Amino acid sequence: MNLILLGPPGAGKGTMASGIKDHYRIPHISTGDIFRTAIKEGTELGKKVKSILDAGELVSDDLTVALVEERLSQPDAKEGYILDGFPRTIPQAEAFDKIAGEYRVLNFILAHDIVVNRLSGRRICKNCGEIFHIKSKPSQKEGVCDSCGGELYTRPDDMKEAILNRLEVYDAQTAPLVDFFQAKSQMADIDCNQPIPAMMEDVLKVLG
Ligand SMILES: [Zn+2]
Repeated sequence: MNLILLGPPGAGKGTMASGIKDHYRIPHISTGDIFRTAIKEGTELGKKVKSILDAGELVSDDLTVALVEERLSQPDAKEGYILDGFPRTIPQAEAFDKIAGEYRVLNFILAHDIVVNRLSGRRICKNCGEIFHIKSKPSQKEGVCDSCGGELYTRPDDMKEAILNRLEVYDAQTAPLVDFFQAKSQMADIDCNQPIPAMMEDVLKVLG
């Protein structure tokens, strides 16, 4: 089973990916991991990526596609894979569509205001990294970690303004991809405004 996951931050995509990975025993592949591994292994493509990133530039669509293709040819991806964070642009999607054979797309849907509520309510312990949420998982004493007594804080990424920016970038990048995959009718929508177990059930039902 070859899978692409699309979805905004805070939708529970990572949790679903890990559930799908365990259920179908296929690798969860992100472009960040591919770049890091290629650089570490010092492959030809890895050397190119390193020089681009070292110069503070963006990795081109062509190079990203070549690296993804190389990763997907590894033995562990023979029975399938879950792609997360790729494709991110229409040229990447078109190139992937040519090399991929059959694949499915899950489109995780969550309204912006719910994303903001979920992410802006997160509080993280400065000391041990434990994650709390002011509504769904509050600490016993406000601002204090239950596990170690450390101070809880809001990551800069989880500030409302930052979340709205991330959503804007996501919408601009992803809306054209949704149209692209919808036209190929290989896409299923997943409602993320429900508890994780119910979401997982929907995902497995769709995948069969
Ligand atoms: Zn703590």
